[in-house]
Parts: sequence; C-alpha cells; structure tokens
Amino acid sequence: MGEAFWAGAGVRLTVIGCSGSMAGPDSPGSCYLLQTEDNTDRTWSLVLDLGSGAFGALQQHIDPRDIDAICLSHLHADHCADLVGLAVWARYAPGGPLPPIPCYGPSTTVWRVRQLADHGRGERGGIDAYAAAPARPAPSSEGTTARGTIVAGGAFRVRNWVAGRQVQVGPFTITPSSARHPVEAYSIRVVTAMDHPNQAVFVYSGDSDLVPELEDSARGADLLLCEAGFVHGRDTVGGVHMTGRQAGELAAKAGAGKLVVTHVAPWDDKATAVADARLRYDGPIEAASPGAVYQVDPVEAVAK
Ligand SMILES: [Zn+2]
Ligand SMILES: [Zn+2]
Repeated sequence: MGEAFWAGAGVRLTVIGCSGSMAGPDSPGSCYLLQTEDNTDRTWSLVLDLGSGAFGALQQHIDPRDIDAICLSHLHADHCADLVGLAVWARYAPGGPLPPIPCYGPSTTVWRVRQLADHGRGERGGIDAYAAAPARPAPSSEGTTARGTIVAGGAFRVRNWVAGRQVQVGPFTITPSSARHPVEAYSIRVVTAMDHPNQAVFVYSGDSDLVPELEDSARGADLLLCEAGFVHGRDTVGGVHMTGRQAGELAAKAGAGKLVVTHVAPWDDKATAVADARLRYDGPIEAASPGAVYQVDPVEAVAK
C-alpha cells in the first residue's frame, strides 16, 4: 500500500497536552496530534494519548470527526481519561454518531474504556444506555470481530498492541515496543512513506524507564518526543520514568535529530529537564509546550 500513501513532506507534531502525571495549570495531561498529507493531499491524523483535560484543547486543532486513529501508550489517567469526552462527542455531536474510531492500546483497553464510560448504577449503563436510544442509533453494535472490539456505544473500535507488530493507518506505519512502567505500556515509533526516500521517523517514548527496547525503537528518529518525568538525584525508584539526563542519553544513543522533552510534573521545572538532557545530548533540545508545532522532516526537524 506504500505508493498510494507517499508523503514526502514528513509529519507534523502538535503538542496538545504535555503535563506529567496530571493536568497542570498551563497544560492538559499527555496528548499529541501527529499529521501528514498523502499524495492526494488528504490529511491523516493520529492522536497519541488523550489524557486528563486534553480533549478540550484537542478541539482547537482538529475536528474530532477527522481523527483517523487513537494510539494509547498506556492506560494511566493522565494518558487516557479524556477518551470518555471524545466518546460522548462521537455519539451525540450534530451529524453523528461517528463510525467507530480505531483505538490501539494495551490489552486492557476495552476494560479501561468501559470503566471510564460507565457513569455508575444510577445511570443505567452510562453512555451505552443513551447510545441505544432511538434518536441516536449505534452505528455498530458492541462486540468483537477480527477488526477489533466495539466499545462505548460504538465510539471506538479497540485493538490491542502486540510489541513489534506493525499497524498501518493510511501513510503511517506504527510500531509499538514494550516500555518499562508500573503498568503495561508501550513506546510508539511512527514512520511515514515506508517506500519513499523522504520518510520521516517520529518516536514517542510514552511513560517509561530507559530500557533496551526503547533504544531500539528510537533509533534514527528525526524527532524523539521523550518523557522526563523524574528529576536526576531526587527520584531513584526504578521502572517508572526517565530523568532529563536519561532522555538525553537515549537521544544520543539513538542518533536522534531533535529531542523534545515532555511529561514534566506541574511541580517541576522544564528548564531543569532540558539542562539535564544537554549533559548527554548535543543536538537541539526543547521542552514541549501546549500548541507547539514541529515539522518533522527526514533531514532536520524545525520548530515553528
Ligand atoms: Zn504519565
Ligand atoms: Zn504512566
């Protein structure tokens, strides 16, 4: 399918939310919009994580009906809580309901979405009860087929990641790899235009300690979006997050063209994470901020 989706222009990353572990005073939880155009100029849009408070800000950048797929790194609330907001939009916004949005995630994603969408016993089945009302017939009934499991009243078609197994969404070739975090988690490598010399490589660490799988996944990234949820010298527990220094180490080992550090907690300083990353990586480094747009090209990544 490569030729039909040639996208020599690279990809565009828009930071929707980048606050670590929860929404902060100036940013929602984790959410990133990754877009590219194919050779018919159709724009393809991936939403990477949809954390606390992110669905509101996301609507500043995309009409929800134009989302081609959602990719979840893991199911902590700061990465997936606003799925329920999108589910309500998908079911009830004028012109809806939308066809089920493909949603890729860990093996417990169906359970997690149902948990988020269930409003409690007093509401007789939460969102699904309303979805069954005649005014808004469900476009697809709940159930599992080879194409995935339909949940949240038809809002999502969920499929589970398998580490190393590629998923194709239009021109995006997406490869999840196992991350190291207290819950099942993945880092996500996205390559556009596999068969084209101008392919762009984008890698998102998700939440993870530094592990060999992540080093493999990040190799040759034109842009590495890497979490720095921990502070060097303060946070010593293993298996949860990286420090800015480790993010820099990863960028250097991977030969990344540019590093954007993200997932800094509201009580920490982004400048500390950047300074710490600089000790290990001499390429361009920035701290993610909401609304920032990066054009990711194979030769160089330029912040706009
Ligand atoms: Zn997180
Ligand atoms: Zn997490």
